Amino acid sequence: KLKELSNCDPLTNVYNRRYFSEISNKMLSLTSRNSHDLGMIILDIDKFKNINDTYGHGLGDKVIIALAQNLKEIVRDSDIVSRFGGEEFVILMYNINLENAQNVAEKIRQHVEAIEIIDNDLTLRFTVSLGVALYDEAIDNKNLEYTLKRADKALYMAKQNGRNQVRVSL
Ligand code: GH3
Ligand code: MG
Ligand code: MG
Repeated sequence: KLKELSNCDPLTNVYNRRYFSEISNKMLSLTSRNSHDLGMIILDIDKFKNINDTYGHGLGDKVIIALAQNLKEIVRDSDIVSRFGGEEFVILMYNINLENAQNVAEKIRQHVEAIEIIDNDLTLRFTVSLGVALYDEAIDNKNLEYTLKRADKALYMAKQNGRNQVRVSL
């Protein structure tokens, strides 16, 4: 139980960043040994500051919690969902190709768009932007930090291009 607590983010109950680093190294060695692919999605809520400023931090928290729950329901049990920062999540997917990783990201985008957060008379909707990258031994130098950097660049492009969209690092 204690171990579980130290691996998880208290607000959302998904894995925290520390555990993500630990498990991603294990996944990386599995990937290299079995020559499987490893896919990564980084996603960030669009204009989340507006949600906090307009409806308050409490409802903001409710949005983050709902997002985390939905992410866990969408991905496979073997995938790792982690909360990286305030309203930013990273998903690690074992044994997936780039096209399918992109499909998962698009599925998440559409799914999130349809979530309704209900608070008294208020119905709140929100969107996310997503960046996708596939671990590439040749360019990522056996380090998932590089894969994450590429996914993050793709996320930045998605934000720049108007948000609520998926961008892929090729
Ligand atoms: P963008 O579309 O570019 O991502 O815009 P944004 O407003 O989402 O980006 P920004 O990084 O400016 O805002 C993130 C906000 O998330 C700011 C911070 O106060 C809020 N935040 C961080 N952690 C939490 C949390 O645990 N709960 C709540 N309610 N808000 C949080
Ligand atoms: Mg944001
Ligand atoms: Mg952010």
